[in-house]
Amino acid sequence: MITVSSPLDVNRIREDFPILHQRIHGKPLVYLDNAATSQKPKAVIEAIQHFYTSDCSNIHRGVHELSERSTYAYEEARAKVQRFLNAREAREIVIVRGTTEAINLVAQTYGRQRVEAGDEVIITALEHHSNIVPWQMLCEEKRAVLRVAPINDRGELLIEEFERLLSARTRLVALAQVSNALGTVNPVGRVVEMAHRRGVPVLVDGAQAAPHLQVDVRTLDCDFYAFSGHKIYGPTGVGVLYGKAALLEQLDPYQGGGDMIRTVTFEKTTYNTIPYKFEAGTPDIAGVIGLGAAIDYVQGIGMGNIAAHEHELLLYGTEALERIPGLRIIGTAQEKAGVISFVLDGVHPHDIGTVLDQEGIAVRTGHHCAQPVMDRFAIPATTRASLAFYNTFEELDALARGIGRVQEIFGAC
Ligand code: PMP
Repeated sequence: MITVSSPLDVNRIREDFPILHQRIHGKPLVYLDNAATSQKPKAVIEAIQHFYTSDCSNIHRGVHELSERSTYAYEEARAKVQRFLNAREAREIVIVRGTTEAINLVAQTYGRQRVEAGDEVIITALEHHSNIVPWQMLCEEKRAVLRVAPINDRGELLIEEFERLLSARTRLVALAQVSNALGTVNPVGRVVEMAHRRGVPVLVDGAQAAPHLQVDVRTLDCDFYAFSGHKIYGPTGVGVLYGKAALLEQLDPYQGGGDMIRTVTFEKTTYNTIPYKFEAGTPDIAGVIGLGAAIDYVQGIGMGNIAAHEHELLLYGTEALERIPGLRIIGTAQEKAGVISFVLDGVHPHDIGTVLDQEGIAVRTGHHCAQPVMDRFAIPATTRASLAFYNTFEELDALARGIGRVQEIFGAC
């Protein structure tokens, strides 16, 4: 039996999350679907409410007081993201709708400018569809080749095989720092080193990493880093693309419209400086301010404390689930974040999810937008419990009991 220890006062922290204090089908809610989206602390909800009740105005264009307040709060949030990622400059932070848009932005700008027929883009076998399809679309358009670095049976990247794929034709490497389906933490630093030795830039999909690990884009030395607000306890509809300034400056705009221009005539438009060149139109101002509040909130707890607590939860939950006969965990990498994906003999994941829901337990079932991962493990789907710092050891006991209930109902071994 594992000794339970945590640097966090989780009961105190849970008071900050109003949504957690409810019953579902008569049972206390156990929210274990954090990889899909995480819940929001009061500080985030209040920051959004404050914007709409006191400061609401469009940004960058007004001289009046409300517009100045909105612009200040929006740019302050950008500065918070910069410090959070340890980016060198605020202009390296582009505000987008989420990880998906960030990756598409790079594919449609960097990709379209630099990738030609016969060139190659390398991804890994554990990517989310968001980090597959934009590259596939680009490669189809350019008649380029998408290369996939394989993983082993534990769900770990085969780094030597990855290195073998790097060639004079490689134009970009794009990989997740943490897999949403398996929990694997990729050795991003080593990947960047290997790629840079050949002059190849690296995009990191940080959707599942930024909420759970201390991220430092300067230490990683990655060229692009993407993450989503809603997975880091912030609102939906906002996200971040970090890009090294020198690289962003060389890229053409992504979309045309207001704010991304310097001058417009019918003959010619000149573009704004970075990051505004990539931020056409009115953004989700309240969402960005909410994201800033979320970053303040997690930094108040400490990313190191968050990672340590979630690691304890992962060990505890893994041990509890491994004791269940007929249950197999998919994704057993040495370096893992708080994701426990599993299959259960004789029971379809959707049935598991439905029974668990009746017990008040929210998990996700399906392919987790990572169908090639399911194919790699020759399974159609998994049930996935994904953890956050507000989860408790008792909730993982409830999950194990809930799976016992599934087995009673379906008569599985
Ligand atoms: N990459 C990974 C690893 C993810 O887990 C997700 C979301 N499940 C995404 C990308 C896409 O994020 P979003 O839907 O917020 O754009």
